[in-house]
Amino acid sequence: MTNTKKTIAIVNGTGRQAASLIRAVAAVGYGVRAQVYSTEGLVAEELAELPNVKLFEGPLLDNPVLVDTIFDGAHIAFINTNPLAGDEIKIGKALANAAKKRNIQHFIYSSMPDHSIHNPKWPSVPLWAPKFTVENYIRQLGLPATFVYAGIYTNNFTSLPYPLFCTEFLEDGSVEWRAPFHPDIKLPWLDVEHDFGPAVLQIIKEGPGKWGKGQRIALAFENLTPLQVCESFSKALDLPCDYVYDKQIEVAVSVPNGYRQQLSALEILFGHYNAPYFPGPDFQYMGRRKGSNETVTSRNSQESSCGKPGKLTDTARALWPGWRSIAEYFATAFVAEEEANGKTWMM
Ligand code: NAD
Repeated sequence: MTNTKKTIAIVNGTGRQAASLIRAVAAVGYGVRAQVYSTEGLVAEELAELPNVKLFEGPLLDNPVLVDTIFDGAHIAFINTNPLAGDEIKIGKALANAAKKRNIQHFIYSSMPDHSIHNPKWPSVPLWAPKFTVENYIRQLGLPATFVYAGIYTNNFTSLPYPLFCTEFLEDGSVEWRAPFHPDIKLPWLDVEHDFGPAVLQIIKEGPGKWGKGQRIALAFENLTPLQVCESFSKALDLPCDYVYDKQIEVAVSVPNGYRQQLSALEILFGHYNAPYFPGPDFQYMGRRKGSNETVTSRNSQESSCGKPGKLTDTARALWPGWRSIAEYFATAFVAEEEANGKTWMM
């Protein structure tokens, strides 16, 4: 492709959201100016080879020169900050200010909810709420913005002993997923590597005229209960998979700073209060009867009768109809990841 389209400023370029987007936009001729924390490693090296992709290495915190560099000549921005990089509110506000200064035409921000504003009993989740603070700041600046809310990555599942999404292979040949999510309450799912980039590419193509009015979009392609996830796992891999509803999350390995507080908040929010993963009217739907457009009141607490017609997954599926189901994820990418991690259960 010879014709360079508009240029997109991106941060945390090697992160799974941004990397998926860079692959998608570079393939159809957009230019990319992406900040990365390191130019070393497989993903950075792969991205650096893509046409019209420029990577800029360095930290974002208190680094106005780097922030200015990535916005130089950019028309569009995709911003997903990362708690590992330090104060996400400070970084997010600095990026929004730079976008405002450069008259960015479309600012796409990867947000997450602050549950505490929806119910005084619900805690703020420490690694999510700062993103919501930045979302409000972006709204105050009046940027033409879209707020994407990424569902739970199917890619989180692993048989390594990490907390929350460990599919543990037991000696009797069965698999167990243990988590504090109510077994019958639906959760939003996303294959971030396969589907994030194409969906955001479509938001970019449809542009700020359609999406730049501060809309919130759930980037989730399936809304499944933990029991349904285990059912998909069993069908995909022909292995019995049991869901165990455990209100306490076991932490068997060392985790990054602040992650224990994150897990404690999730235990309270989901294990104790059965809160919806994405709260608020933007994410409340009535559901639809199978095979028709008729709306129905769902018994699921996430789909209340006072919601909008349709389903939580409608917008994401309309943006990117080629999404990968969780069953397909388990049957393909999960097996490959497990092999790469030295697991042999699939032999
Ligand atoms: P990621 O987790 O895939 O990327 C990690 C990035 O962090 C890599 O680029 C790595 O180079 C970089 N990194 C590693 N150590 C670092 C350090 N010390 N300082 C700075 N950078 C470092 O990223 P992602 O998944 O695209 O985005 C992460 C964000 O997505 C988080 O805020 C998370 O809350 C949010 N999110 C995650 C999920 C999920 O299910 N996992 C769902 C929705 C939103």
